[in-house]
Amino acid sequence: MRRKVCKDCRVFVDGGECPLCKGSQFTTNWTGRITIIDAQKSSIAKRIGVAQKGEYAIKTR
Ligand SMILES: [Zn+2]
Repeated sequence: MRRKVCKDCRVFVDGGECPLCKGSQFTTNWTGRITIIDAQKSSIAKRIGVAQKGEYAIKTR
């Protein structure tokens, strides 16, 4: 089964709510995966618009 990601944050979610925004809008329709270690120093983090470390999908639909 594909893992689900939050539609707003694009962070991977294992439980019933998003750890970042506490939302429950998920999608399994994502492509690409990236782990952000230090969002402040990561140009990729800036490019995909994430501000916290974690595991993210690059694109969701
Ligand atoms: Zn979220």
